Amino acid sequence: MRELLDLTPAELREHLVSMGEPPYRARQVFEWAWKHLVRDFSAMTNLPVSLREQLSREFVIGAATPGATLMDAEEGTEKVLLTLRDGEAIETVLMREDDRRTVCISTQVGCPIGCAFCATGRTGFRRDLSPGEIALQVLFFAAKLKAEGQRVTHVVLMGMGEPFLNYDATLKAIRNLNHPWGLNLGARRFTVSTVGIVPGILRLAEEGLQLNLAISLHAPWDDLRAELVPAARKYPIADVLAAAEEYVRATKRRVTYEYVLLSGVNDSPAAARALAGLLRGRLAHVNLIPFNPAPGLPFKRPPLRRVEAFKRELLRRGIDVTVRYSRGVRIQAGCGQLRAARLGATSG
Ligand code: SF4
Repeated sequence: MRELLDLTPAELREHLVSMGEPPYRARQVFEWAWKHLVRDFSAMTNLPVSLREQLSREFVIGAATPGATLMDAEEGTEKVLLTLRDGEAIETVLMREDDRRTVCISTQVGCPIGCAFCATGRTGFRRDLSPGEIALQVLFFAAKLKAEGQRVTHVVLMGMGEPFLNYDATLKAIRNLNHPWGLNLGARRFTVSTVGIVPGILRLAEEGLQLNLAISLHAPWDDLRAELVPAARKYPIADVLAAAEEYVRATKRRVTYEYVLLSGVNDSPAAARALAGLLRGRLAHVNLIPFNPAPGLPFKRPPLRRVEAFKRELLRRGIDVTVRYSRGVRIQAGCGQLRAARLGATSG
């Protein structure tokens, strides 16, 4: 059985036409799945019964089984583990803050990047997600919010995985979520977070989409960065920044730089000065994320005064900066080190 959410409106139209249906059926089916969030073809009441039956023999819609939802009422954070059809599981997080309803989604099962300070990175890579599997995470919480008379306002791609190592599926999911027949979520409401995969940044610059881009830098020097973000070794910081400039030129969007502060590793005043030197004159914002200690990870959170000193060094040199403490700590929300930035990185 195929996943209906893997199809774009054009692919759906082509398929329905090949079944002998008129082209306008594509909009009807897409709207049921993406706007009305229906998961059963029998509920698609404006389709002929025979078509509903035929489609249900061929497709599933948003096939994932939710496990228990972990909630932190104080933080407004809610995490769900979704089990996919092959038994793999991904985590998706909803964050409620003021009138924002941000869903943080995964793009891969596990992660091939292997950041030294990330529990997900240490467990290795399992597989890419399909476009439908990426999108269904948003639709899961969209349905939940709909029942409360609310809607998803922002999507951040900062869960498990590196979006640019699963580029096509990621963009297909974003375009479907952005489509007026579906949730119609504006491009500016998405934030794509990368460790700096240069070809991905350059490709995204050419998409003609006003997405927010967040780049996980974590170090101002290539040798230190290679230790902290091993898979990013291939792309020197200078190349990453040049690609980011290209993104700014194409989209006029400010780029966010994520920087996890690790005590005694990358939190020195010299590191702050070097970071400021790299970003001076660029349309950039820095999110400083004091490390969130986790079992088995050999790093510590810097003391508050050290965090503040780092921030001051940046401010003094004219760099926009925000300190973000991780959300979802108490519910062990997955790729935790970047969790803090999720709300701040979205600006739509
Ligand atoms: S921090 Fe993000 S990119 Fe790095 S290993 Fe974890 S999931 Fe992958």
